[in-house]
Amino acid sequence: MVWSCLGTNPNIHIPLIITRFAPSPTGELHLGHAHSALFAEAEARRAGGRFLLRIEDIDTTRCRPAFTAAILADLAWLGLTWESPVRHQSEHFDDYRAALARLEQAGLLYPCFCTRADVAQAGNAPHGPDGPLYPGTCRMLSAAERAERPESGLAHALRLDMGEAVRRAGRLSWHDRAAGRVEARPDLFGDVVLARKDTPTSYHLAVTVDDALQGVTLVTRGEDLFAATHVHRLLQALLDLPVPAYAHHRLLTDAHGRRFAKRDRSLTLRALREAGKSPAEVREMAGF
Ligand code: GLU
Repeated sequence: MVWSCLGTNPNIHIPLIITRFAPSPTGELHLGHAHSALFAEAEARRAGGRFLLRIEDIDTTRCRPAFTAAILADLAWLGLTWESPVRHQSEHFDDYRAALARLEQAGLLYPCFCTRADVAQAGNAPHGPDGPLYPGTCRMLSAAERAERPESGLAHALRLDMGEAVRRAGRLSWHDRAAGRVEARPDLFGDVVLARKDTPTSYHLAVTVDDALQGVTLVTRGEDLFAATHVHRLLQALLDLPVPAYAHHRLLTDAHGRRFAKRDRSLTLRALREAGKSPAEVREMAGF
C-alpha cells in the first residue's frame, strides 16, 4: 500500500488513491467507456490521488494500434489527463510469464488441450460467470498421458487447478464500495484459463498482475466485471500481491435500456465529436 500524509500532521496517514482506466483496443470508445474513464479519474482526483491508463491489448488478433491511438485521442479530447507512461499489456508478456511460472512451480497449473467445442460439448456442464464450467478433462491426465498427446508440442492453454488453489488460499474476501465486504467465491468459475492458446496470459491474470505492478489501490470498473473479482482476489493470494479496494460502477444504457456496445457506432466518442458535440456535452451524456 502506498501512503501519503494528510495535511501537516505526520501521525495521520490516509492511503493514496491510485485508479486506472483499462480499455481493450478492439474498437472505438463509446459513451459507456467515457463513463468508466471519467469515473476512475474522478475517484482519483477527489482524493488527491493518481489516475493511470492501461491498454489491455493481449489479444493480438482483435486489438489494433489504430484503436489504441484513437482511444488516447478521444480521452484527451474529453479532457482527461493521466500519468505517463501508459502501460501497454502487449509489451509486458514477461511479467505474466513470471506469474505463470510461480503458479506452475506451486503445482497449480495444468496444460489443457481441449478446444472450445470440446468444452461446449461436455454434456450439460453447469455454467459459471464466464460460461460453461470446464469439466476438468485435462486435469485428470497423468504426466505420461500429457506427453503422449499429439498436441503436446503445440500451443495449449494453461488452466488453474481451482480446487487445489482454493484449498491452499483458504477463505478470502475483498472490499467493494457498494457491496461492502464480499466473500470471494472463485470456485464458481471452475478451472479458469490463465494462459490462452493464442497468447501467453489471460484477462484474469494480466489484470491482476498489472493492478499490482502499477500500484493501483482502487480498482474501478463496470459492474459487469464484479464477478471477475472473485478470481482476481484468489490470484492475489496465490501470488502474494497487495489487495486493492474495488468500486464497480453502474453500466450506462441507451434510450432502450440496452448497454452500449462497440456495435453502436452512432454513440462512439468519435461520432459524437464529428456530430459537433463539445467535450462538456459528451461528459454530461456520460453522466459527468
Ligand atoms: N479491459 C477490460 C475491458 O475493456 C477492463 C478490465 C478492467 O477494468 O478490469 O472491458
